Amino acid sequence: MAEEKNKACSFCGRKEKEVRLLLTGLNGFICDECAEQAYQIVQETTHEQARKDVPKYTSVPKPREIKSFLDKYVIGQDDAKKTLSVAVYNHYKRLGQKEDTDAVEIEKSNIIMVGNTGTGKTLLARTIARLLQVPFTIVDATVFTEAGYVGEDVESILSRLLQAADFDVEQAQRGIVFIDEIDKIARKQDNPSITRDVGGEGVQQGMLKLLEGSVVNVPPRGGRKHPDQSYVQVDTKNILFICGGAFDGIERKIAQRLNTHVVGYDSVKNVMQIDKENLMRYILPQDLKSFGLIPEIIGRLPVLTYLNPLDKEALRRILVEPKNSIVKQYEKLMLMDGIKLTFEDAALDAIVEKALEYRLGARGLRSIVESVMQNAMFELPSTAKRSFKVTADYVKTHFAADRIGIS
Ligand code: ADP
Repeated sequence: MAEEKNKACSFCGRKEKEVRLLLTGLNGFICDECAEQAYQIVQETTHEQARKDVPKYTSVPKPREIKSFLDKYVIGQDDAKKTLSVAVYNHYKRLGQKEDTDAVEIEKSNIIMVGNTGTGKTLLARTIARLLQVPFTIVDATVFTEAGYVGEDVESILSRLLQAADFDVEQAQRGIVFIDEIDKIARKQDNPSITRDVGGEGVQQGMLKLLEGSVVNVPPRGGRKHPDQSYVQVDTKNILFICGGAFDGIERKIAQRLNTHVVGYDSVKNVMQIDKENLMRYILPQDLKSFGLIPEIIGRLPVLTYLNPLDKEALRRILVEPKNSIVKQYEKLMLMDGIKLTFEDAALDAIVEKALEYRLGARGLRSIVESVMQNAMFELPSTAKRSFKVTADYVKTHFAADRIGIS
């Protein structure tokens, strides 16, 4: 058994009290988040179909090709898809550039995506990494603290990438890092001299170093720096950083800016043109600054894009359209028992209604379907039934809110 005292996750280094759950193994521990990430990696690498879906490219795919691959898995979000496709294409073109001192040096274009949680930010980044077959890791900005405080060092971001690259430094140096919840390390006040939120700004400074491109000593096993641990040097110059955040309340900053902007000449015309339902589409770097990101960080994230909130229509499409949509997955599961499963249109609507009612967004669709289908999945394989139709009534009577953690 692994040593009980000073229990910490062997993957990310977080202590027992910093995680929800810490599982004990023979020679180490794993926390709930790393276990979940490991599960996703296993799923991705072993899923034959998914692998077959990835076209083989001899050179970097063109923006159009990148976008059409994204279209197979991500519903809507056209603006974000286009912006990402171009940015990723340019990034890898830049990597292919021959060393030439006279040549125009193309600067790195890290990306920041702003949009409500559960709208597809992580899914987009993950799908791109899969297409390009480069090491990819997701880190949550909230676990990082300034060196010296309890928590993780910013460097441990690179430990995870190194792990994802199977410790191949060359590969890791061309990988993609998705930094989630970047908004959570924003300074709480716009004016730094009044309320200094040292944690937020300190972490941003640490992150800046990574985004700018520097050679970082990385503890390969992650976690806190330890004098006995040998380091691996990782150059972040060519790592593509994609940041994501919900930036709750940023619409207000956008609205303020738009209002002041349109006062005066031509104002009526401009106001008329503004889509008030979706202010996010007008986001500019200065709004991120008003929200509390330091200008240096914003400068290092030159590609800014937004995600639309998912409406009823989008949620419904998410249920059925993606290549590995939830509905397709359940149909396949049942077919393995020789049962033809179908969902009535009204049943799909009812599932979407539940997701909206409980404000679960796309993330909740899967657990709702799981809850609805549980009884059928239990009973049907032992019966002689060869088909099963899920109706709206069936959804309403079999959905158990308490089973998915809401009551
Ligand atoms: P976030 O924006 O918080 O990073 P995620 O990308 O993690 O959201 O989305 C959570 C889950 O919801 C995804 O794994 C996917 O199943 C589903 N989802 C969210 N948005 C979309 C979308 N636009 N198209 C398809 N599925 C989506």
